[in-house]
Amino acid sequence: MRVPCFAFTPPVLVRADASNGDPSIPHPEPAGELRVVATPIGNLGDLSPRGADALRTADLVLCEDTRHSRPLLRHFEAHAPVEALHEHNEASMVPRVVSRLQEGAVVALISDAGTPLVSDPGARLVEAAIAAGIRVTPIPGPSALLAAVVGAGLGGGPFTFFGFLERKGKERQRQLAYVSAHPYQSVVYESPQRLGATLADLVAAGCGGRRAAVARELTKHFEEFRRGTVSELAEYYREATVRGEVVLVVEGAATVAEVVDPDAVRERIREWRAAGASAREVASKLVEECGKTRNEAYRLSLEEP
Ligand code: SAM
Repeated sequence: MRVPCFAFTPPVLVRADASNGDPSIPHPEPAGELRVVATPIGNLGDLSPRGADALRTADLVLCEDTRHSRPLLRHFEAHAPVEALHEHNEASMVPRVVSRLQEGAVVALISDAGTPLVSDPGARLVEAAIAAGIRVTPIPGPSALLAAVVGAGLGGGPFTFFGFLERKGKERQRQLAYVSAHPYQSVVYESPQRLGATLADLVAAGCGGRRAAVARELTKHFEEFRRGTVSELAEYYREATVRGEVVLVVEGAATVAEVVDPDAVRERIREWRAAGASAREVASKLVEECGKTRNEAYRLSLEEP
């Protein structure tokens, strides 16, 4: 008989169990599996064959909105029962789903679009499943995050993903300052209605001269990248009516040195003071945005301008 040189063996998950390989000791029932499946962000062609198969062979599909996801599941001939898991019921759903997994169910988690947990629910379920010893299998695929980074033309990685910024308050100000001073590019999810305001706030936070891109309707018919400086984009989106979904990518500070270079730091301190910041506020900005230690930040904040 001819023996093939290479044989593909599907990976087998070996679980430790009390039988220690002794066939006379009964094996425990195999636990189930939680599959975290990325689904399209607008183009059905982007669901991977593996993702489709993971949905078709699941015992239960969890999605944010059953009305939204049913057509997708039908399209891919996934006929398992569907239940909702969203930010408002995730805490109460988790114990029930973990019990199902412990009984051996294969559960697929999807979100309205893209990759679950990326600004979408599912983190609690994944953590609880891991804590219960359940196998968690990510099935990678579409996400607006990576599509935006790849098409933005701002140098690829490294980058920091912010998801949605806070809508108002101190935390938003802190985030805007962070984006403005960050050495790496920043990726922000934004609603079309708030895009203009966020760009204007970034200009106010001091990164108007930085290059940026707005990625709109990724993978869809009207996909568009609009590129320019943050100020140019703020000007454009001050007036423009934005339709569809958008991701904002902002170039990082030219180098880490821009943030840690002593002259650049002094220049920043001058700007903050000119804007009315107290010594204490300057010190905490130095810690948060320039990575200074508390002592050093305190000393710098008291130096002559
Ligand atoms: N889990 C998704 C992912 O992996 O990208 C993101 C879900 S989050 C609730 C929705 C946000 O993602 C939108 O407000 C928008 O910022 C971004 N987004 C999703 N689909 C998009 C698309 N086709 N084009 C541009 N942005 C998109």
